[in-house]
Parts: sequence; C-alpha cells; structure tokens
Amino acid sequence: MDDRDVERVLVLAAHPDDIDFGAAGTVATWTDAGIDVSYCLVTDGDAGGFDPAVPRSEIGGIRRTEQAAAAACVGVRELHWLGYPDGRLTVSLELRRDISRVIRRVRPQRMVIPSPERDWTRLAPSHPDHLEAGEAAMRAIYPDARNPFAHPELLDEEGLAAWTVAETWLSPTPGADHPVDVTETFDRKMAALLSHKSQTAHLTSLREDIGAALVANGARLGLAEGRMAETFRVIDTR
Ligand SMILES: [Zn+2]
Repeated sequence: MDDRDVERVLVLAAHPDDIDFGAAGTVATWTDAGIDVSYCLVTDGDAGGFDPAVPRSEIGGIRRTEQAAAAACVGVRELHWLGYPDGRLTVSLELRRDISRVIRRVRPQRMVIPSPERDWTRLAPSHPDHLEAGEAAMRAIYPDARNPFAHPELLDEEGLAAWTVAETWLSPTPGADHPVDVTETFDRKMAALLSHKSQTAHLTSLREDIGAALVANGARLGLAEGRMAETFRVIDTR
C-alpha cells in the first residue's frame, strides 16, 4: 500500500537493537513523512551485551534506556515493552494475546515483524527469538487481533476492539525483495545503532560495515549506484 494511506506503523522485534540494525533508516523516512511509528519489544534483551563487568541484573534496564534513545533518533517516542525473557521465547497463547493487545491499542495499518522462516544463508538473523516472535506476531495479526472472539478478555475486560493489520513487512527475512532507499536517513540510523552502547561500543568498523551492506542491498535490488537500501518482504494481510 502507498505510504500516504498509512497513518500508523507498529514495528515489533524480539530484542532491543533488532529494529535499528534492520529497519531504523526506513522508520526515519516514515516519521519524516508524518507517519506515527511505535515499537513493540518482546524482550528486554537481558541475555545480550559483551561486557562481563556489567551485572546481569542491570542489563535489561540499560537496554530499555538505550532503545528509547535509539527510537528518539528516528522520530519514535512510543515503546511497548512485553517483558518476556531474552533467549527463552516460545510461541505461546500468552505472547499471542500480549501482541494482539498492542495491535488493538495502536491500530496500525502496517506492521514490521521478523520472519518466522529461517534464513539458511545467514545465521544471526534467524536467532530463535526472532523466529518465535515473528510466528507469534503473525498469529496475532491473523487471526487473533481481528477476531473479536479471540482472547475475549481483551474486548470484555479492556474494551479493545478487533483490528485488522492491512499490510505486514518482514525484516529480517529470507527472500527480501522490497528495497527502501535510506541514503538520506543513514546518519540517523547510525546514531540509533550507536545508542545501543552495550551492544555496539566495541564494534569499531560498524559504520563502514553497515554502509557497505546497505549499498550492496541497493545494487542487488536496482537502486542507483551508491544508494543505500534496507530490505523487506511485503505481505498483504488484509
Ligand atoms: Zn535480536
């Protein structure tokens, strides 16, 4: 669907920083266009980080603060935290209900979720939490959020009416074929990524590595030479 028909986008990810690696440049193009973008983070990322000197009990809070700062870099203020444990996600009815609740609150025309399908060509994008979060989100998009009789407590006790998400973008995903030109928003994407200090402070060539990957995406999907692209697979979910 045309961006002009989109008022609200909900971006869902398993971990803080997933959105910034995959989609923050695109998010900035949307907020620039006046679209309201909000995030839903399924875990606090409490199993992440690289510095053993930081007490594990503090990681979740640190990562929430980092994600809020990263979101602000690309014009996003509204974050929904589900608080599931990092590294132990499963597609449960509770997770489907909790995602459905956020969908019915935000009422997005478009969502961005990780693909539930494993990418056999690259290991990291198919972290088990990404696959589980993606599958749970897809089951929330269809049928739970649009079916008023699914998770009846959402309607009966919380007054949250059914909502149909018209379009779903997958990222990360195998078979990504839809490029978004993020050349103009690359600096803000990098600022967002660098907000995740506990994850990226030790990555000395991050800007070069991300820039090269985005330029390669652009070349593969037909953008002009040197243009940068984030990539998605777009699914009609009406
Ligand atoms: Zn992740």
